[in-house]
Amino acid sequence: MNTIAYTREIPVRKSYDVIVCGAGPAGICAAVAAARQGAKTALLERYGIPGGNLTSGHVGPILGSVSKGTMRDEVCTLLGVRDNDMDGKTGVAHDMEKARIALVEWIDHENIDVYLQTMVSDAVMEGNTVKGVILSTKEGLQALTASVVIDATGDGDVACFAGCEFEKGRDDGLMQPVTLEFTLDNVDEERAILCIGDIDDVQFHGQRFLDWCKQQAEAGALPKNAAAVRLHPTVYKGSRQVNTTQVNGCDSTKLETVYEAELELRRQIRLLQNFFRENLPGYENCKLVGSASTTGIRESRRILGEYVITAEELAVGKRFEDVIVHKADFLVDIHNPTGSGQAEKKIQYCIPYDLPYRCFVPRRIDGLYTAGRCISGTHRAHASYRVMSICMAMGEAVGVAAAMCAENGCTPRSLNVKALQEKLTGMGIDLFSE
Ligand SMILES: Cc1cc2nc3c(=O)[nH]c(=O)nc-3n(C[C@H](O)[C@H](O)[C@H](O)COP(=O)(O)OP(=O)(O)OC[C@H]3O[C@@H](n4cnc5c(N)ncnc54)[C@H](O)[C@@H]3O)c2cc1C
Repeated sequence: MNTIAYTREIPVRKSYDVIVCGAGPAGICAAVAAARQGAKTALLERYGIPGGNLTSGHVGPILGSVSKGTMRDEVCTLLGVRDNDMDGKTGVAHDMEKARIALVEWIDHENIDVYLQTMVSDAVMEGNTVKGVILSTKEGLQALTASVVIDATGDGDVACFAGCEFEKGRDDGLMQPVTLEFTLDNVDEERAILCIGDIDDVQFHGQRFLDWCKQQAEAGALPKNAAAVRLHPTVYKGSRQVNTTQVNGCDSTKLETVYEAELELRRQIRLLQNFFRENLPGYENCKLVGSASTTGIRESRRILGEYVITAEELAVGKRFEDVIVHKADFLVDIHNPTGSGQAEKKIQYCIPYDLPYRCFVPRRIDGLYTAGRCISGTHRAHASYRVMSICMAMGEAVGVAAAMCAENGCTPRSLNVKALQEKLTGMGIDLFSE
């Protein structure tokens, strides 16, 4: 690429103790947690609504579990989500519209400066330390400075701008596919099939529904990569949350593949709706009533931290002395980057595991935490901890940590982790139970 010289003075709009970049499940919890500790906090989001995949991403159900007492419980209560709704085997999708209102009001109750429609487009550096961020706004480029910045952008944008090391995908570089989820209404609940994914053996025409779908895809009736037809119930009778469209080979951190993916996924929605109407009893009159405002990204940058957690450790429920998220649990859910369905024939289940503090502290770069799906882990470990329950608990823990750094004038790398654990347990979060 050619380059141009571009220098200009950028106004510094305000200074904070803690800046949280990205208002997804991890970011909103990080901002609320930091603000509740008394930190002067900003929350930055590129879209016009907070929530990330909980709202604009139109992703549900909220899946995975963590130990008792975290902010995940508070958010789920707020959204009317019950424990059973989050079970991977019976998951029920939340009401996306209610979530939009509930989350924006929830954040508004806290002492947080929320900047919507602001894209974080660079990190302000002093040597190896992040001192703030550059925002692209309707008022032009602006800077915010902070004692600590939390990267909860999902894609690890801030960490990347700051020069952190990262990895993407598995050993061959391929990442999990992208999907646009949508909601159908007017489904006959009595007759309409449910299928929650590849661990579901629900039968159809005398065989496994998903095998039948695969045959349909091979025959050209379904898009080749959209053969895993996942039809979740929602909180409303006669409604289905559809997690089925799929495009492989899209990298959300590169401009060139994003538009093509969006176009193809939107086309798949129309095709799938017609296919369901023609082939699935109970779906004859199904109506499209909602879809994600943006392509859903399962995987992109994983920012390498002081510790890189592995799926093997999750499989044995490894405990860590510097635990800050406890009893995290979800299967290793790798959607196939070269076809449809799961990438691995045998699905790996986990024993409730710990996430250690060091996974949230990027190597070499100071003044920065990561939270959410961009934390430090392997491709296979990420496929488990990326679910929204676990991301919320991560955000909360890191939000508290960032507030403590700001208060004590220390860096994330030098924070006293025992003191952080005491603070978290003092808030009622279980970090140590068997
Ligand atoms: C199609 C799909 C289906 C899924 N299904 C489920 C499921 O059923 N259950 C479940 O629990 N999980 C599911 N997941 C996983 C889960 O939704 C995500 O891993 C989780 O939301 C990650 O949370 P996060 O806060 O790290 O990131 P996100 O939810 O991605 O939030 C990141 C936020 O940061 C903002 N942002 C990004 N870059 C910038 C920037 N440069 N400047 C400002 N803002 C920025 C984004 O707009 C977004 O709001 C699914 C994911 C996808 C894509």
